[in-house]
Amino acid sequence: MRLILLGPPGAGKGTQAANIVKKYQLPHISTGDIFRANIKQGTDLGNRAKAFMDKGELVPDSLVVELVEDRLQQDDTKVGFMLDGFPRTLPQAEALDSVLENMGSTLSYVVNIVVDPAVLVERAVGRRICRDCGATYHVKFNPSKEDGVCDLCSGELYQRSDDNEETVSNRIAVYTNETAPLVDYYKKSGKLVTIDGLQDIDKVFADIEKALEV
Ligand code: ADP
Ligand code: AMP
Repeated sequence: MRLILLGPPGAGKGTQAANIVKKYQLPHISTGDIFRANIKQGTDLGNRAKAFMDKGELVPDSLVVELVEDRLQQDDTKVGFMLDGFPRTLPQAEALDSVLENMGSTLSYVVNIVVDPAVLVERAVGRRICRDCGATYHVKFNPSKEDGVCDLCSGELYQRSDDNEETVSNRIAVYTNETAPLVDYYKKSGKLVTIDGLQDIDKVFADIEKALEV
């Protein structure tokens, strides 16, 4: 299965991606995670991406597309993949189409998680992530059992530096201008499934499972 998760920042893409890759045994390709790992390692790519990420802006297409192209050539994607946070612009979507075409492959589904914009800032600002295993929590909506400690691996939970109110608001505006047009792009291809992301995390996943079983 070859999947894309679409939705604004805070919609629940990363949370559902974790459930999806576990059930369907797919590699989870999150461009945001790849950039954060590069920033941590101090690579040239990380240094170039950081300035954009800190402001809540998109990293230029030229940097992102090559990265995903390379990632999709790796052997583990033969069974499929779960793209999270890519594509985010029309040129990225078109580039992905041609990469897949060259590989003789097509997308299975584009899962669009729809939420009321009013909840996004609270969701993103309250997000906490495990430094060791990357599990996602929320201080109010999905808290860890022990404050600041991951339930799965006992790693330390941290807040992303771009999960502050100002940057999140900018990321939502960027989503509206640059990424939301992809909903129509994928609707036309007949691959789009729409999921109500305002429900509880388990119910959102149950709806995704149902949509993928069709
Ligand atoms: P995205 O990857 O789309 O930016 P995340 O999956 O990281 O979003 O979720 C953003 C925040 O909202 C996290 O703190 C997560 O725990 C929380 N969250 C995700 N899904 C739900 C939901 N259905 N209801 C309430 N909170 C949610
Ligand atoms: P995310 O982890 O998906 O919330 O992404 C965090 C940040 O990484 C975004 O605000 C962008 O600055 C950058 N980013 C991640 N994916 C992309 C992409 N496909 N295109 C451009 N920028 C991206």
